[in-house]
Amino acid sequence: MEYKHFSHEHNLSMHQVPPGQQLLCSGCDKFCDKTIYACWQCKFFLHEHCGNATRYINHPCHSSHYLILSPYPTYPSNSFLCNACGTNGSRFSYCCALCEVDLHVNCAFLPPKVTHKAHPHELDLKHSSQTGGHNEVCKMCKKSLDSKHWSYECRVCTNYGVHTLCATNEIKIGLYQMDDGSDTETTQPAAPTAQQGPSDGQVQVELTPMEALAILMGLSNAASYV
Ligand SMILES: [Zn+2]
Ligand SMILES: [Zn+2]
Ligand SMILES: [Zn+2]
Ligand SMILES: [Zn+2]
Ligand SMILES: [Zn+2]
Ligand SMILES: [Zn+2]
Repeated sequence: MEYKHFSHEHNLSMHQVPPGQQLLCSGCDKFCDKTIYACWQCKFFLHEHCGNATRYINHPCHSSHYLILSPYPTYPSNSFLCNACGTNGSRFSYCCALCEVDLHVNCAFLPPKVTHKAHPHELDLKHSSQTGGHNEVCKMCKKSLDSKHWSYECRVCTNYGVHTLCATNEIKIGLYQMDDGSDTETTQPAAPTAQQGPSDGQVQVELTPMEALAILMGLSNAASYV
């Protein structure tokens, strides 16, 4: 069974990663595990969830525009600064080119709530720091917590904020459902179907990024009248 991903010229095949095999995902730059999409001649690999990431999303952090999945950074530096975690990325991003919003694929699908053994309460994802200048230091790693970036904050304790990366360092990366954070430990990416896989030949694959953007802007504008 072969698959096509819009970011890669060759067909991809499914591969089960055995323990110990170290392959870097070309979507998120993290090590692959479980089932991946592979082009062996190019050493191009994608986590199943990275390969199945939809071409655009309407994200609550930036609801005015769709975020478009870009296979590479749109900046001359060949990297982007993720608005969520504040670290650089050089692979896939969800971006709004108009507003310079960029998110790692994994960061775009962070769970809305997490639990961490370092803290007794549930932590809520915040797209901007709600407590202003109070959370200057991440309570887990003690490094600075930039209010420009996202954080997880405790609803019970005042001024308990942590980096998204610190709060999720024990959680398996994957695509989390925006509306269901009740069971983050066991949430798994949706099982791909033939329709959801990169093999489906949707028309948007034929569009150049600018054309796609133009269409999506149109959609976005239309939606705002509803
Ligand atoms: Zn990946
Ligand atoms: Zn290839
Ligand atoms: Zn990020
Ligand atoms: Zn925007
Ligand atoms: Zn931290
Ligand atoms: Zn707390």
